[in-house]
Amino acid sequence: MSTEDTAEPRACGGCLCGAVRYEIRGSLRDVVACHCGQCQRTHGGPASYSSAAKSEIAFNQDRGLTWYRSSQKARRGFCSQCGASLFWEPIGGDSISVTAGSLDPPSGLATSGHIFVCDKGDYYEIADDLPQRPRGLAG
Ligand SMILES: [Zn+2]
Repeated sequence: MSTEDTAEPRACGGCLCGAVRYEIRGSLRDVVACHCGQCQRTHGGPASYSSAAKSEIAFNQDRGLTWYRSSQKARRGFCSQCGASLFWEPIGGDSISVTAGSLDPPSGLATSGHIFVCDKGDYYEIADDLPQRPRGLAG
């Protein structure tokens, strides 16, 4: 048995009702707060996401997992039983973004900045001094 088989997952997480449970064995990116219009619609406000390699996430329970093709570039994973928003996944990419709030605490992560602040809602202010990008991490 290799050490990889016995190593503890880096993190575990899941939805509100337990119909989706996952574990991540690799490293997790620091949390980025996304203010885009799509996150506002699906989360009810800005959303905090970490990210991991797609190859390093495994599902212990996925009976509730449903994917919604939210744009040409990406799909969003949610629980069809409790409605929890869980994942953002670029189509054809090798990473998966994971909602920070779905991770079992403590996450051991910190928020590193804000993206898509050009789409920020007018009903709140960003009250920290972290870096702000008008659009995504790439642009
Ligand atoms: Zn659920």
